[in-house]
Amino acid sequence: MNLISRKEAKEQGYNRYYTGKPCKYGHVSERDVFTASCMECRRGWEQTYRDTNKDTETYKIRNKENAKRYYRNNKEEQLANRREYYIANRNRIEAYRRQYYIDNRDKCIDAINKRYAAKMQRMPIWADRLEIAKIYRECRRITKETGVVHHVDHYYPLQGETVCGLHVHFNLQIITKEENLQKLNKHPDDFYGKQISREDCSTSDAQGSETNQASKAEEGLCISGFES
Ligand SMILES: [Zn+2]
Repeated sequence: MNLISRKEAKEQGYNRYYTGKPCKYGHVSERDVFTASCMECRRGWEQTYRDTNKDTETYKIRNKENAKRYYRNNKEEQLANRREYYIANRNRIEAYRRQYYIDNRDKCIDAINKRYAAKMQRMPIWADRLEIAKIYRECRRITKETGVVHHVDHYYPLQGETVCGLHVHFNLQIITKEENLQKLNKHPDDFYGKQISREDCSTSDAQGSETNQASKAEEGLCISGFES
């Protein structure tokens, strides 16, 4: 580590400085430019805070929110890391998945059936089956051409927690298998961040009026529990 005084670090716009001198607890560590606190000490405080609060509801909620925000702000990097991890451990991960399926066959089959039923229930009679088929065909073509497995994803998930999407062509998108496995049943706003272009179909309130629900159906989703 290069020696740099607090003043110099501040002038150069760094957040950390390093004098090589120990803190009063004997850590020879970087320090924070703004508070002058020792980073080794800080790690200790943070660890103590985590250990004493990790079982409280407030901590859990805040931690989850922070993780979500971090994911959103670093999405590209996170996806790249996961991709790298997957490639490096592909055999192990696939073997684990196969074994999981064998050990939990009933659970897996149940999930597949549930999903199929949800899809069928979420396909209104006016759905354009030809358009839907076209998207699945396009997905297979992209997979074949790029060699990267792509999935057809329901932008608004069929079995979301707060909203349920419809199985209609304008609620379908082609994304990589990897992105799809991370997205799962997450609300698109939670996964992608608020999308301005899809502002019209924002659905955070589950108390929409009937006309609201009708217009949402046009966008490819309806509210959970709304019997169509
Ligand atoms: Zn220290």
